Amino acid sequence: MSFAMRLSIAAALVAVAVQTVLPRTAYAQLKPDVPLVCDLCDAWNKDVTPVKRFGNTYTVGTDGLSSVLVTSSAGHVLLDGALPQSAALIDQHIRALGFRTEDIKLILVSHGHYDHAGGVNALQRLSGARVGGSPSTATALRMGTITPDDPQAGFGVEANRFPKVSNVEDLADGQVLRVGDIAITVHHVPSHAPGSTAYTWRSCEGTDCRNVVYADSLTSVAAPGFRFSDDPARVATFRKSIAKVAALPCDILIAPHPSFAVGKTCKTYAADGEARLDQRLADEKKK
Ligand SMILES: [Zn+2]
Repeated sequence: MSFAMRLSIAAALVAVAVQTVLPRTAYAQLKPDVPLVCDLCDAWNKDVTPVKRFGNTYTVGTDGLSSVLVTSSAGHVLLDGALPQSAALIDQHIRALGFRTEDIKLILVSHGHYDHAGGVNALQRLSGARVGGSPSTATALRMGTITPDDPQAGFGVEANRFPKVSNVEDLADGQVLRVGDIAITVHHVPSHAPGSTAYTWRSCEGTDCRNVVYADSLTSVAAPGFRFSDDPARVATFRKSIAKVAALPCDILIAPHPSFAVGKTCKTYAADGEARLDQRLADEKKK
């Protein structure tokens, strides 16, 4: 066998080996972050089928945690990334609907807690999307944990840890974000978290258009020892945010924990938040 022949056989073998080692994939693979462990994490992360809500709005999250996809021919917007271990499911759901996760141009976050922001880093790494939240939420995303002024901060920095996100933009109240023909409005609603934010947009099927609201959680959950009643200004702000959510143009309501919005309008969702806050304040008075 001539040297040239040996060389060409060797080259052919290398080509086969490269093909075997590097199969051609149709899309980029998501590299997930380390899963978080928490009491509710497994139940929250149970897989569910993605659902078209209306027009270009789809829910692509898990059983207990929302992730919302708004699509356009010029790229998509994703709202919330759930837990780190939810990112792969969200990616699969987006593809199952016939869209590409790489086409996400913008990721928006409701509030900077691990169960809504945990998957954002992996989804940003895959898509290269811009990430935005209210200034307080953006601070939490950059730190990869809760901000010290959060009612749940007393659970500790470590218990609230999630993968840090880089290149996060601060979003102003009332700011409108555009991707293709999508226009999403930012509404600061400090309440459940200091950075809590609702997002609104319109989705259409032909000339039939609906106002969609991704409301943030309005639950007054806190770490042991935290008292809302010690901070009347915080309570007043909370009530203002509840009223703001109640007044949003709202045909379709989606909440960060999907079950909280079932059968509710923005008005009844807000009333529920107010009743829980009143109950919390009454309970604090008894202690
Ligand atoms: Zn939360």
